[in-house]
Amino acid sequence: MKYTRSAQLFEQAQRLIPGGVNSPVRAFKAVGGRPLFIAKARGSKIWDADGNRFIDYVLSWGPMILGHAHPRVVRAIKAAAMNGTSYGAPTELEVRLAGWIQKAFPSMELIRMVSSGTEAAMSAIRLARGFTGRDKILKFDGCYHGHADSLLVRAGSGLATLGIPDSPGVPADLARHTLTAPYNDLSAVRKIFEHHGREIAGLIVEPVAANMGVILPKEGFLQGLRDITRQHDSLLIFDEVITGFRVAFGGAQERFGVVPDLTCLGKIIGGGLPVGAYGGRREIMERTAPLGPVYQAGTLSGNPLAVTAGIETIKLLGRPGVYRKLEERSDHLSNGLIEAARKAGVAVFGTRVASLMTLFFTNRAVTDYAAAKTSDTKAYAKFFTAMLETGIYLAPSQFEAAFLSTAHTASDVEKTVKAAYKAFRSL
Ligand code: PMP
Repeated sequence: MKYTRSAQLFEQAQRLIPGGVNSPVRAFKAVGGRPLFIAKARGSKIWDADGNRFIDYVLSWGPMILGHAHPRVVRAIKAAAMNGTSYGAPTELEVRLAGWIQKAFPSMELIRMVSSGTEAAMSAIRLARGFTGRDKILKFDGCYHGHADSLLVRAGSGLATLGIPDSPGVPADLARHTLTAPYNDLSAVRKIFEHHGREIAGLIVEPVAANMGVILPKEGFLQGLRDITRQHDSLLIFDEVITGFRVAFGGAQERFGVVPDLTCLGKIIGGGLPVGAYGGRREIMERTAPLGPVYQAGTLSGNPLAVTAGIETIKLLGRPGVYRKLEERSDHLSNGLIEAARKAGVAVFGTRVASLMTLFFTNRAVTDYAAAKTSDTKAYAKFFTAMLETGIYLAPSQFEAAFLSTAHTASDVEKTVKAAYKAFRSL
């Protein structure tokens, strides 16, 4: 494959945009390559600026669960654009999307729309603090909740410590209010609550972790978090930005049967346009402006084009059998890849929940960030490059999920598994 045009564009981009990209993982740094510049996408395929075609397992990092440029979604967006693209005033569309979200997530008694997952998580944290009158929050090592200051913090080694900022620019004074624990470690969470319970406004968690690769919650982990937070009058916040409408129509809370106080959504609810949302128990959400004193706002919040794409996407996802089919195809892909690795003699640990999956290049069972980090990232980079060369576009990092859409065919999966076997052999 030739990547001449992408290379030219990357040169130009680097002169104008930090690192040539508007979000860091896009730069392919973790796999040692240069990013492809994408020109168009349809269904399960994307085309780069040189005209190369790829089967896409990034899917814009999750939103495109129906595949790219779904005709019904595109038609709805076009029609909405004819009526104007933003008013800064309420619309019937927002009410309809909120209705759909609430139908899928009954725990979201009131819902506020924003324009990104970052905003959703940031606003949920502010609300939890405002509601409880407490400052501390607890998050898990390796979980990502967008780039709000309080959430750009991870643990030091081992047990919970006071927060260390992950990024310059995050005041240490703020970071110290963020406590962290290893994912899937209930006893660490219990200990932290024993010490700081009265100061913790809320615990935020990805109910299926998908930002250190996909890591499943252990049996009883989510229920344990529910019990501990309730005991300490702390709020349980599910960040379902990835899992919402992905692991089930009603997200992880439906799939695992654990009900949080607040939920963050993004990605799929915007159908590929910028939307996020947070919501939860009425008495908590009523503290939000203009009903209550906790401030939150946005010029483009509930944008009519974005909301239209979301409604159309969710409507199509609500049809019978959609999730069952996605699950079956994803199971074929995941098992196919694991089997291909085994035949080629490459040690991998495969994880999957619904159409969300990762192959960790390690022989350890991956249940937390420390285990994920034992992966051979150099081997992943080689695998990634070999797959790209055969027309398969995977996440340019070991620590990201692969996503499937309803547009991926049995033949896409077959091609991918065949290519993977060759790629594994070449390692
Ligand atoms: N929460 C989770 C779980 C995410 O995966 C992401 C982004 N991948 C975010 C929040 C932030 O969303 P956004 O990039 O839309 O700001």
